[in-house]
Amino acid sequence: MDLRFNTALIQGYKSPAQQARILTEDWLARNMYCPICGAVSLHKAETNAPVKDYVCDHCKAQYELKSKRATTDKYRTKLNDGVYSTMIDRITSLDNPSFFLQM
Ligand SMILES: [Zn+2]
Repeated sequence: MDLRFNTALIQGYKSPAQQARILTEDWLARNMYCPICGAVSLHKAETNAPVKDYVCDHCKAQYELKSKRATTDKYRTKLNDGVYSTMIDRITSLDNPSFFLQM
């Protein structure tokens, strides 16, 4: 497991939120296994799938990645969740996702 981010990917990006998203999405795709079944990799879900960023091909578990770059303790108590109704619909559905939180 490579614990470093590929910082070359964020050249030209100014927004800390965009930088965090790009770095963590890349890291997760290269390094994360399925915590539910142990499959060695996850694949990226289709673009714009609501509250679903990654899927395990083996057990079909769905994962949502939430990442945030912050320099204060404030990030520990707040996490943006996008559109409220979409999030509620997804987390109360039968195929609700698990979350990866990278901060
Ligand atoms: Zn799995």
